[in-house]
Amino acid sequence: MTKNEKLAVVRQYYPNARTTTDTINDLISFIEDQLDMETAQILMADSVCADDVNGVQYPTRTREFYGPFNLAGLWGYPFTGLTGMGAFSSHVPDNGAAFIYYGPHIGISKQGKVGEIHRFGQSVNSSCCGAAIGALTKFNNNAIEEGSIDEKNYQANTLEQLLLKNKERLSKSDEFGPQLMEVTEIAYEATDKRIQELISQTKFNNCKYIILLGIILINGDSDVGSFNAIKRFDVIDLSTNERTSYLNNLLD
Ligand SMILES: [Zn+2]
Repeated sequence: MTKNEKLAVVRQYYPNARTTTDTINDLISFIEDQLDMETAQILMADSVCADDVNGVQYPTRTREFYGPFNLAGLWGYPFTGLTGMGAFSSHVPDNGAAFIYYGPHIGISKQGKVGEIHRFGQSVNSSCCGAAIGALTKFNNNAIEEGSIDEKNYQANTLEQLLLKNKERLSKSDEFGPQLMEVTEIAYEATDKRIQELISQTKFNNCKYIILLGIILINGDSDVGSFNAIKRFDVIDLSTNERTSYLNNLLD
């Protein structure tokens, strides 16, 4: 499959999706050209689902940054909270920048099926994001109890509660694909909101910029790779506290 053939599958659902490789290449060019910084001055954090596929499909050139600091757990939500963000902020190289890559993920197979991918070494496709699909299945079976969070399954239960709070949005369609995309959207909005809250309550004393890249991470089959539907690309200049969106720099 060529890159354009792969993109055509994903863009049926996410029209502005790009390969993760292209996103990160353009991000690095932006950092070098517009911010006049080197990748070695940047500490990266990610807030993406713990799923091994995200490790396998991790964009190679992010290895040029220092890090990553992992802020998430299941489904990409920054479960490490204020303590995680505080630790991350205190590890940024002197006069460097903090870069946060965050968002939920969703699988789209080569056949264009939403919510599943082929994983390495397996003969059949499997769920992606499994946590999101588990929560959606429970929602559709009316099996989510309001306020029910078991300490042993805290992260997944937190997503279930979020779905319950957004039941009207999820009830608009009874088709699995559109519903799962809506779950992913809800998860993105919650993650984005929490990331903003955490950075506003964290001191970034040591650095020049906070770079925020909010995405829906789209996983393809094992021989396809991953894509980003980019939702936010903001740079906060910490000398003025001014925030600027450079989203157009990362779109095709
Ligand atoms: Zn997941």
